[in-house]
Amino acid sequence: MAMLELHDVVVNYGAIEALHGLSLQVEEGQVVSLIGANGAGKTTTMRAISGVRPLTSGKIIFEGADITRMPAHNRVAEGICQSPEGRGVFPGMTVLENLDMGTFARKFPSKAQYNEMVEHIFGLFPRLEERKGQKGGLLSGGEQQMLAIGRALMARPKLLLLDEPSLGLAPKIIQQILQIITGINKDGTTVLLVEQNAQGALSRSHFAYILETGAVTKSGPGKQLLTDPAVKEAYLGVA
Ligand code: ATP
Repeated sequence: MAMLELHDVVVNYGAIEALHGLSLQVEEGQVVSLIGANGAGKTTTMRAISGVRPLTSGKIIFEGADITRMPAHNRVAEGICQSPEGRGVFPGMTVLENLDMGTFARKFPSKAQYNEMVEHIFGLFPRLEERKGQKGGLLSGGEQQMLAIGRALMARPKLLLLDEPSLGLAPKIIQQILQIITGINKDGTTVLLVEQNAQGALSRSHFAYILETGAVTKSGPGKQLLTDPAVKEAYLGVA
């Protein structure tokens, strides 16, 4: 049984059908990527999984339970946590206060465990420790992205949803973020990743799905898709 299963998911924005019966699976312990052009439905898929966008039809199963109609905050408590596209850092709050926001849906049983997690996140992102008292709005784009990922980790997700973590970042920072995602996965968190940087995402993914206009058109191990001629031409800029 996969950790997460989407079966024939249809999602509408009013009269517009953004997902037309999308099915996919995420196996526990893996990094799984969604690759696709603008408007293919990647963000909508993430929203359906986190519960901020209702399904018109279809089913979502998490750890064997049907969560199709479960409210978003309950999904966080179950272990599904999203670091949203556009980062969503609170600009007027400090780095530490932003991290605390990640604990609301899932409080730590003790202060010691809270401290341990903050230490862990500062270990992943030393820049955040250096700037822990600084306001979120004063951080660079890359640091804000690190903070958004750190905040999501504060909820101790089983499944971490990352929507375009490299958006707008310099190539060096992109590599750093992708490396950290691999590290988070090795620590035991399953990751579902949406990335424009198809090369970087596929090379680090156990499995990936190609989305076109609201449905899956191809899937396979990341490294296999990297060598697929059609994928190369459409997403890797190689003819
Ligand atoms: P991007 O990389 O640009 O974020 P995406 O693959 O994440 O693209 P979605 O944002 O999921 O794609 O969009 C899927 C479809 O749904 C598109 O046709 C888009 O125009 C439409 N759509 C998305 N959000 C809305 C909205 N709030 N209202 C109406 N239509 C929407």
